[in-house]
Amino acid sequence: MSELRNVIIIGSGPSGYTAALYTARANLSPLLIAGSFDPKTSRIKGGQLMSTSDIENFPGAIHAPGITEFSAAPDEQLAMESLHGISGPELMKRMELQARHFGAEMIEEFVTEVDICTAPGDHYTVKLSDGREFKTRALIIATGAAAKTMGIEAEAKFFGQGGGVSTCATCDGHSYKGKTVAVVGGGDSAFEEASYLANLVDKVHLIHRRDEFRASKIMVKRAEANPKIQIHLHSVVADLKGKPHPMADKVAFFKDREVLASATLEDPRTGDQRDLEIDGLFVAIGHTPNTQLFLNQLKVDEAGYLERDRHMRALPSMNACNRKMLSMDAVPGVFVAGDVSDHIYRQAITAAGMGCMAAIEAERYLAEKLAEESQMDPEALDLSRQSFAQSHWSSERDDMGEKPIIERVAEAAAQ
Ligand code: NAP
Repeated sequence: MSELRNVIIIGSGPSGYTAALYTARANLSPLLIAGSFDPKTSRIKGGQLMSTSDIENFPGAIHAPGITEFSAAPDEQLAMESLHGISGPELMKRMELQARHFGAEMIEEFVTEVDICTAPGDHYTVKLSDGREFKTRALIIATGAAAKTMGIEAEAKFFGQGGGVSTCATCDGHSYKGKTVAVVGGGDSAFEEASYLANLVDKVHLIHRRDEFRASKIMVKRAEANPKIQIHLHSVVADLKGKPHPMADKVAFFKDREVLASATLEDPRTGDQRDLEIDGLFVAIGHTPNTQLFLNQLKVDEAGYLERDRHMRALPSMNACNRKMLSMDAVPGVFVAGDVSDHIYRQAITAAGMGCMAAIEAERYLAEKLAEESQMDPEALDLSRQSFAQSHWSSERDDMGEKPIIERVAEAAAQ
């Protein structure tokens, strides 16, 4: 028989770990399915930030000497001068440890199947790549999205960790101050990244494979008027070339490493090639949300992202496999957070915020659900009492003058 859990979180990016942290601190004993190393894509648990070098825009996640305690009076000038960002893998490790410290359980396997359809609003089934199967009262989907890549061999060689190829200008653009970079793509993302980078770097080459853009006219106009942006039409990146890493002579780790030096551009109509010297290349050719597990169960928008209501609840698919779901405004107990449902902001901080919101909504849902189940089985109420008794969140509610969840569970069960 499969084990029944209160809440299962799928995904180990900022939204998944934040949802795990909040549900753990609410004594819901969450189980987070983190994923593992995928040899096909070289992806590892931790999501997109695992390939980001310095993160400087996640408030508070910085290294700065002298800032150790709130009560201390740091040398602010020194702290500001030596302040530097935290690496993507470090931030993710910190998030993972924080969630586990407060009681989140983590399994490093892939989810192979999720059954929402059979019993919507009851217990959902989650199957893992090692053959294990779980049932859960609530599910938080935080599977993220993957940036599309061009698929040329050299791209992987320079990708992330300061190598020169990135899929996120907001994350990595700062490292190219005063340098020359290129952006690949002809959609809104490419133009947005090019404009953003033009504020930081000396020169931006925008490389697009056709002579028409998907981007909005206003964004194209703005880029055309920017003297730092040069647009190359009918151009694809055929190859990337490197040069020795600047630290190669000083640090053994970088001895045989290369950083990006140039891109070979090719005209797809004629096959003509030319080299373009660049320090960084930003690939902005779209994202693919990781929704495969939920197709025909949950609703996606035109771009393929999971839709949600303002309580972070997933919506049923138009072709929902269970007719009962079609009459539902939202799928009870299934919550959505992070990039899998966001193609606009796509930031670690927004994903983390959504993870928090989904966790709070899941907590509210479970309070009602456990009360409901306790009417059928009074022992379950005792379990729910224990579960919420030391809830950080319920005590916060006390401070706000609201009734703690545990009291509301008891009241609901008594009715
Ligand atoms: P997109 O609109 O799908 O554009 C992707 C671009 O990449 C297209 O120009 C495409 O070329 C090119 N491309 C695709 N595969 C390629 C490859 N292998 N090699 C070279 N080029 C390739 O994606 P997006 O720009 O990420 O935008 C996604 C959605 O988010 C859109 O709805 C967009 O409006 C929205 N968005 C809005 C904003 C905003 O409003 N501020 C900002 C960002 C994104 P072709 O044109 O030749 O197919």
